[in-house]
Amino acid sequence: MTIRPILIHPDPRLRKEAEPVGTVDDEIRKLGADMLETMYDAPGIGLAAVQVGVMRRVFVMDCSAKEGTPDPLVMVDPQILWLSEEEAPSEEGCLSIPEIYADVTRPVEVTLRWTDLENAVREHRFDARAATCVQHEMDHLAGKLFIDYLSPVKRTMITSKMKKLKKEMARA
Ligand code: ZN
Repeated sequence: MTIRPILIHPDPRLRKEAEPVGTVDDEIRKLGADMLETMYDAPGIGLAAVQVGVMRRVFVMDCSAKEGTPDPLVMVDPQILWLSEEEAPSEEGCLSIPEIYADVTRPVEVTLRWTDLENAVREHRFDARAATCVQHEMDHLAGKLFIDYLSPVKRTMITSKMKKLKKEMARA
Protein backbone atom coordinates (compact mmCIF):
# COMPACT_ATOMS: atom_id res chain seq x y z
CA MET A 1 0.00 0.00 0.00
CA THR A 2 1.13 3.51 -0.79
CA ILE A 3 0.34 6.78 0.94
CA ARG A 4 -0.69 9.18 -1.83
CA PRO A 5 -0.31 12.97 -1.63
CA ILE A 6 -3.56 14.76 -0.78
CA LEU A 7 -4.55 17.77 -2.91
CA ILE A 8 -5.01 21.00 -0.97
CA HIS A 9 -7.75 23.52 -1.84
CA PRO A 10 -7.75 25.51 -4.10
CA ASP A 11 -7.05 22.99 -6.85
CA PRO A 12 -9.08 22.68 -10.08
CA ARG A 13 -9.22 18.88 -9.66
CA LEU A 14 -11.21 19.32 -6.44
CA ARG A 15 -13.85 21.17 -8.48
CA LYS A 16 -14.39 18.54 -11.19
CA GLU A 17 -17.02 15.85 -11.31
CA ALA A 18 -15.66 12.30 -10.90
CA GLU A 19 -16.26 9.60 -13.53
CA PRO A 20 -18.14 6.34 -12.81
CA VAL A 21 -16.00 3.21 -12.30
CA GLY A 22 -18.33 0.44 -13.54
CA THR A 23 -16.63 -2.89 -12.87
CA VAL A 24 -14.13 -3.02 -10.00
CA ASP A 25 -10.73 -4.35 -11.09
CA ASP A 26 -7.33 -4.68 -9.41
CA GLU A 27 -6.48 -1.06 -10.19
CA ILE A 28 -9.54 0.12 -8.23
CA ARG A 29 -8.77 -2.36 -5.39
CA LYS A 30 -5.25 -0.92 -5.19
CA LEU A 31 -6.69 2.62 -5.23
CA GLY A 32 -9.07 1.71 -2.37
CA ALA A 33 -6.25 0.20 -0.29
CA ASP A 34 -3.99 3.21 -0.91
CA MET A 35 -6.79 5.62 -0.04
CA LEU A 36 -7.50 3.85 3.27
CA GLU A 37 -3.79 3.91 4.11
CA THR A 38 -3.63 7.62 3.20
CA MET A 39 -6.77 8.41 5.25
CA TYR A 40 -5.56 6.57 8.38
CA ASP A 41 -2.13 8.18 8.07
CA ALA A 42 -3.51 11.73 7.77
CA PRO A 43 -5.50 10.94 10.04
CA GLY A 44 -9.05 11.40 8.80
CA ILE A 45 -12.41 9.59 8.74
CA GLY A 46 -13.14 9.95 5.02
CA LEU A 47 -11.30 10.49 1.74
CA ALA A 48 -12.52 10.77 -1.85
CA ALA A 49 -10.47 9.64 -4.87
CA VAL A 50 -10.54 13.16 -6.32
CA GLN A 51 -8.57 14.29 -3.24
CA VAL A 52 -5.65 12.16 -4.40
CA GLY A 53 -6.10 13.36 -7.98
CA VAL A 54 -7.98 10.30 -9.30
CA MET A 55 -11.17 11.48 -10.98
CA ARG A 56 -13.27 8.38 -10.30
CA ARG A 57 -16.39 7.84 -8.19
CA VAL A 58 -14.70 6.18 -5.21
CA PHE A 59 -14.47 7.16 -1.56
CA VAL A 60 -13.30 5.49 1.65
CA MET A 61 -14.44 6.09 5.21
CA ASP A 62 -14.10 4.79 8.74
CA CYS A 63 -16.25 6.52 11.31
CA SER A 64 -15.46 4.00 14.05
CA ALA A 65 -12.02 5.52 14.75
CA LYS A 66 -12.74 6.65 18.29
CA GLU A 67 -14.77 3.59 19.32
CA GLY A 68 -11.99 1.05 18.86
CA THR A 69 -12.66 -1.60 16.19
CA PRO A 70 -11.75 -0.28 12.74
CA ASP A 71 -14.54 -0.38 10.16
CA PRO A 72 -12.96 0.51 6.81
CA LEU A 73 -15.41 0.96 3.93
CA VAL A 74 -14.57 1.44 0.25
CA MET A 75 -17.52 2.79 -1.73
CA VAL A 76 -17.45 2.54 -5.53
CA ASP A 77 -20.05 4.35 -7.67
CA PRO A 78 -22.05 5.40 -4.58
CA GLN A 79 -25.56 6.78 -4.97
CA ILE A 80 -27.74 8.49 -2.38
CA LEU A 81 -31.13 6.73 -2.35
CA TRP A 82 -32.75 8.62 0.50
CA LEU A 83 -32.11 11.57 2.80
CA SER A 84 -34.00 12.22 6.03
CA GLU A 85 -36.16 15.33 6.28
CA GLU A 86 -34.64 16.04 9.65
CA GLU A 87 -31.47 18.12 9.44
CA ALA A 88 -28.92 19.13 12.05
CA PRO A 89 -25.65 21.06 12.12
CA SER A 90 -22.43 19.22 12.85
CA GLU A 91 -18.78 20.18 12.71
CA GLU A 92 -16.90 19.23 9.55
CA GLY A 93 -13.30 19.35 8.47
CA CYS A 94 -11.56 18.16 5.30
CA LEU A 95 -8.14 16.71 4.59
CA SER A 96 -7.94 19.06 1.58
CA ILE A 97 -8.61 22.09 3.82
CA PRO A 98 -6.37 21.33 6.81
CA GLU A 99 -7.13 22.70 10.26
CA ILE A 100 -10.36 24.44 9.25
CA TYR A 101 -13.56 23.33 10.98
CA ALA A 102 -17.09 24.67 10.60
CA ASP A 103 -20.68 23.61 11.24
CA VAL A 104 -22.64 22.41 8.22
CA THR A 105 -26.36 21.61 8.37
CA ARG A 106 -27.28 18.39 6.58
CA PRO A 107 -29.87 15.58 6.77
CA VAL A 108 -29.17 13.40 9.83
CA GLU A 109 -29.72 10.08 8.01
CA VAL A 110 -28.84 8.88 4.53
CA THR A 111 -29.33 5.64 2.62
CA LEU A 112 -26.48 4.85 0.28
CA ARG A 113 -26.13 2.22 -2.47
CA TRP A 114 -22.65 1.38 -3.70
CA THR A 115 -20.50 -1.32 -5.27
CA ASP A 116 -17.96 -3.01 -3.00
CA LEU A 117 -14.52 -4.30 -4.00
CA GLU A 118 -15.99 -7.73 -4.89
CA ASN A 119 -18.44 -6.04 -7.30
CA ALA A 120 -21.41 -6.72 -4.99
CA VAL A 121 -24.06 -4.00 -4.74
CA ARG A 122 -24.62 -2.95 -1.14
CA GLU A 123 -27.07 -0.68 0.61
CA HIS A 124 -26.95 0.79 4.08
CA ARG A 125 -28.62 3.51 6.11
CA PHE A 126 -26.09 5.73 7.92
CA ASP A 127 -26.77 8.06 10.82
CA ALA A 128 -24.87 10.40 13.15
CA ARG A 129 -21.24 11.06 12.17
CA ALA A 130 -21.28 8.46 9.39
CA ALA A 131 -24.25 10.24 7.71
CA THR A 132 -22.30 13.51 7.71
CA CYS A 133 -19.22 11.74 6.37
CA VAL A 134 -21.14 10.05 3.53
CA GLN A 135 -22.67 13.35 2.40
CA HIS A 136 -19.35 15.20 2.66
CA GLU A 137 -17.63 12.55 0.49
CA MET A 138 -20.52 12.45 -2.01
CA ASP A 139 -20.05 16.22 -2.42
CA HIS A 140 -16.37 15.65 -3.30
CA LEU A 141 -17.42 13.38 -6.18
CA ALA A 142 -19.48 16.29 -7.54
CA GLY A 143 -16.65 18.83 -7.13
CA LYS A 144 -18.19 20.37 -4.03
CA LEU A 145 -16.46 21.27 -0.75
CA PHE A 146 -17.92 21.82 2.73
CA ILE A 147 -16.83 25.48 2.67
CA ASP A 148 -19.37 25.99 -0.15
CA TYR A 149 -22.04 25.87 2.59
CA LEU A 150 -20.43 28.81 4.43
CA SER A 151 -20.86 32.52 3.71
CA PRO A 152 -18.89 33.91 0.72
CA VAL A 153 -16.83 36.08 3.10
CA LYS A 154 -15.83 33.10 5.22
CA ARG A 155 -15.10 31.00 2.12
CA THR A 156 -12.83 33.70 0.65
CA MET A 157 -11.00 33.99 3.96
CA ILE A 158 -10.42 30.23 4.16
CA THR A 159 -9.30 30.06 0.52
CA SER A 160 -6.66 32.77 0.98
CA LYS A 161 -5.46 31.01 4.14
CA MET A 162 -5.06 27.79 2.11
CA LYS A 163 -3.21 29.62 -0.69
CA LYS A 164 -0.75 30.89 1.91
CA LEU A 165 -0.39 27.40 3.40
CA LYS A 166 0.32 25.93 -0.07
CA LYS A 167 3.02 28.53 -0.66
CA GLU A 168 4.62 27.63 2.68
CA MET A 169 4.41 23.93 1.88
CA ALA A 170 6.02 24.50 -1.54
CA ARG A 171 8.90 26.38 0.11
CA ALA A 172 9.52 23.75 2.81
ZN1 ZN B 1 -13.29 16.48 2.43
